[in-house]
Amino acid sequence: FTAEEAVRASIERIKRYDKKYNAIVALCEEEAVASAKRVDEAVARGEEPGALCGVPYVVKDNFCTKGIVTTCCSKMLKGWVPNYDATAVEKMKEAGAVLIGKANMDEFAMGSTTESSIFGATLNPRDRTRVPGGSSGGSAAAVAAGYVPVALGSDTGGSVRQPAAFCGVQGMKPSYGQISRYGIVAYASSLDQVGPLAANVGDLALLMDVLAKGDPNDTTCDAYERPSFTGAAAKASLAGKRVALLTGYDRGSLDAPLSAAIDRAVEICRAEGASIIDVKLPITMEHSVACYYMVALGDASSKLACYDGMRYGHHADGRNLSEMYKKSRMEGFGEEVRKRILVGTCILTRGYYENYFVPAMKVRQLISDEFKNLFEEADMLICPISPALAYKRGLGEKDPVRMYLGDVFTTIANLAGLPSVSLNLGFTAEGLPTNVQLLAPRFGDDGLLCCAAAIER
Ligand code: GLN
Repeated sequence: FTAEEAVRASIERIKRYDKKYNAIVALCEEEAVASAKRVDEAVARGEEPGALCGVPYVVKDNFCTKGIVTTCCSKMLKGWVPNYDATAVEKMKEAGAVLIGKANMDEFAMGSTTESSIFGATLNPRDRTRVPGGSSGGSAAAVAAGYVPVALGSDTGGSVRQPAAFCGVQGMKPSYGQISRYGIVAYASSLDQVGPLAANVGDLALLMDVLAKGDPNDTTCDAYERPSFTGAAAKASLAGKRVALLTGYDRGSLDAPLSAAIDRAVEICRAEGASIIDVKLPITMEHSVACYYMVALGDASSKLACYDGMRYGHHADGRNLSEMYKKSRMEGFGEEVRKRILVGTCILTRGYYENYFVPAMKVRQLISDEFKNLFEEADMLICPISPALAYKRGLGEKDPVRMYLGDVFTTIANLAGLPSVSLNLGFTAEGLPTNVQLLAPRFGDDGLLCCAAAIER
């Protein structure tokens, strides 16, 4: 079939089902059909088809998309239309992929449930009484609901991997510096990374081949030669690999099917010829959540200072400058975002800075060191993504602390800059996805995909 047919089928599905899930916040039907036609014409002219020729996809609404509204699901950016594409979006286009729409998310990527969006919550396609995870919940739900085979999200502390886990698809946070962040609305720049979501590990690798390229517009994304990620995933081998199993935390506190999934992953590794060692990460496990929220919120409060109601963003009139700022920001940002800006501003203030932010930076280094030592004796680490199966709706409001604590396993990859895959390992009898997290040394993304593909198989 043609690109146009694929794209039209995808749009039809969204129109038919998305009233149930609310995963898509902007559908770009006309633009998508026009791009699909261009792809078909290029193929008809005999041009070499790109790696994603005619593949429909969606991006999280914090990726800048030229001529298409980009809001971060916040009133602050409502109606904002960027005049450029994020580098990741550009790369997808060059590979022949066709953008169908923008996916729902927690406001400014702050959350784990996709419930704080101004467009309303996304529901989990596997069970509508549960959340799809967050903050890239719309992207994960779009793949799980079969709208698109692949989607893009951003992961600052788990926002690609945890929704992938909750929706029963595969997701990856590449090593920090692997994919350009240019054109992604920042949450916390030293933690943010673009990540692919797909139905299988092979497709994650394909997206990595397309996206992981150096970019002069992002100084943290070097132009070194990347290995072939699809080649690595196609090898799908664990033979001779040293696999570390995380211990030293209360396994009994995990939901039972998630603990069982870890046992299964370990069994597969052993059967495929890997050796297993038990490891502990005492500093990481004790401090990851506190350290992450210090680093992330400090960074977020300074990044989000640019929304002053003047240059762009929601504007409210005031009698003087300070009242105008206050009203614009009070009206433009939702409650969770305001809370995080306040905490972040507080810990960057003299006195608190020395007592909170600086120690957090030091702990971050200790966490990196712990991983450095770990990966001297292991090629991969297995641990959970989330302590719980997909949350029931309403958790962010009812028990935000439990929601924050749920980030204990995902944030470690961002703090240490490591590549990490969220791997679906089937479903419970009730149809809820089970999964494990796999981590590898920094820039060991290819080896990670090779192992992930072997476990998936
Ligand atoms: N749940 C985490 C948070 O609320 C992670 C978010 C993200 O990765 N964008 O900050």
